[in-house]
Amino acid sequence: MAKYFGTNGVRGLLDLITPDFVSRMCAAFGHWSKCGKIVVARDTRTSGEMLEYAAIAGLLSAGCQVVRLGIAPSPTAEYQVLHQKANGAVVITASHNPPEWNAMKFVDARGIAVSRETGEGIERLFESRSRKAAPWNALRPIVKYPLACEDHANAVRKSVDPSVFKNAKPSLVLDCANGTMAKVGPALFKSLGCRVTTINANMDGTFPGRPGEPTEANIGDLIASVKALGADMGIAWDGDGDRVVFVDEKGKFVIGDRIFSLCADIALREKKGDVVTTVATTNAIRDIAAKYGSKVFYTGIGAPYLSEGVLTHDAVIGGEEVGGVVWPSLHFGKDGLMTAAKIVEAACAKPLSKLIAGLPVYYNSKTKIPCAPERKQRAMHAVAGFAKLAASKGKITTIDGIRVDFKDSWVIVRASGTENYLRIFAEAKTQEKAELLMKEYEAIAVKAAGQ
Ligand code: MG
Repeated sequence: MAKYFGTNGVRGLLDLITPDFVSRMCAAFGHWSKCGKIVVARDTRTSGEMLEYAAIAGLLSAGCQVVRLGIAPSPTAEYQVLHQKANGAVVITASHNPPEWNAMKFVDARGIAVSRETGEGIERLFESRSRKAAPWNALRPIVKYPLACEDHANAVRKSVDPSVFKNAKPSLVLDCANGTMAKVGPALFKSLGCRVTTINANMDGTFPGRPGEPTEANIGDLIASVKALGADMGIAWDGDGDRVVFVDEKGKFVIGDRIFSLCADIALREKKGDVVTTVATTNAIRDIAAKYGSKVFYTGIGAPYLSEGVLTHDAVIGGEEVGGVVWPSLHFGKDGLMTAAKIVEAACAKPLSKLIAGLPVYYNSKTKIPCAPERKQRAMHAVAGFAKLAASKGKITTIDGIRVDFKDSWVIVRASGTENYLRIFAEAKTQEKAELLMKEYEAIAVKAAGQ
């Protein structure tokens, strides 16, 4: 079991994520990456510059060639790994966490984030005393690369039809969370001819505008701005720009799985192929894939598993329920810039609310139950036993937690990897059915967690 790696890198407060720790971990990653070319980027946090220097020092000590992007969104760094044929990337970002956090996100040569399981190998190198620093005559200079955001924006621009934007001239309100997307989002949409109003578009590592996570509760200013300006759409990114959420022209928040559903419909209409998603994603994806004769492949929850699935199955699109979408035509990470561009392109023809209304309709119900870490395994065992009995007409999937699929509904029970909870999520064709299904499994989980 990894000691430091979580589902997506090594994350913590600054008492763990010290310059010394970052330097040593990045040296270990450098060795794991065969001491080759490594792309380094960071988000806007106040600790970012300090930890960026530490990361670079560690990588250089391993004999790596460092390509320094400076402040850039995570998807920009992931794009650069493939664009520069690098051996990997280190992104200093804690994504949507509060400003006092920071993290190292590691990406391999395929452009896929390093998982907890793969991270164990890097940790072994981190602990190893026999790991040797590169000799004086193998050390290489840093290569500064200031064009990374421009490259990424150009790749996105080539993936849309500019005439659609020029004709419609949509009015957008962009909320950059004082994060990295301020560097690339507004410029891209202005260059496409959109009428752009920005909020929280000054890069500031104290995140004065709003918390980094783009939940409905956190983007009240964006919702109010869309309504006040009568804009066509509002777009809000998280701190490192891999996730994005939307507000329609009526000022209504659009949840993540609707956005992924819309993206899947767009991608499958443009190119024949399959879809990859996590086991906690809406059946609307299954329905959309069926419309195009495509298959859906499921993965565990977490960016590394989703990206790996997209690569393995050679899918045309991948996504998760909280608004992260992978466009493998660009790279294998979740890309909030490409997602925004494809949604705006589609909304040039029809208002976003109408596009969403055209998607398959499902209702969901969710809850979380306190469960001590030592009880999680036994509780999940009890849930599995019940599922086997109850699901004689359903299909059980155990890729991540226990998911039971019935004809028009499904339920998943998962033990949280980072918190002391069991999470239950049910989906059905009516709200009543979703709640009934959720309650059925809640009763079993409460009993099992309390034993
Ligand atoms: Mg993020």
